[in-house]
Amino acid sequence: MKNCLFCQIAAKEVPGEIVYEDDDILAFKDINPMAPVHILIIPRKHISGITSLKEEDKEIVGKIYLTFSKIAREFSVYQCGFRVIANSGPDAGQAVDHLHFHLLGGRTLSWPPG
Ligand code: 5GP
Ligand code: ZN
Repeated sequence: MKNCLFCQIAAKEVPGEIVYEDDDILAFKDINPMAPVHILIIPRKHISGITSLKEEDKEIVGKIYLTFSKIAREFSVYQCGFRVIANSGPDAGQAVDHLHFHLLGGRTLSWPPG
């Protein structure tokens, strides 16, 4: 989608430090990391967020979930642990309206989050 930052990163119109990509999904480093490992995982398809998911998106979401372990291994947080977060809407602080999952690790992560 035009004017969507993450669509533009997926299309390589905006630079991103891509760490994984295939036909359906993309993973890249967050520009403002909250942990030593902070990767964003997105579908290439523009989906505004969790609340916009449709039945037809089941497969892509499943594929994204299967990618978390792959990325965690690559960044050496598979054993020590990591967290996956998806913010939805203003109270959760969703800033980019393209579905994305944060994978965070490389330090102890406090719980509950603020
Ligand atoms: P949200 O708050 O929507 O869940 O997360 C959006 C994330 O996108 C934030 O963690 C923010 O740092 C990241 N971000 C915003 N702009 C860019 C950018 O241009 N490039 C990259 N790699 N990450 C970005
Ligand atoms: Zn988009």
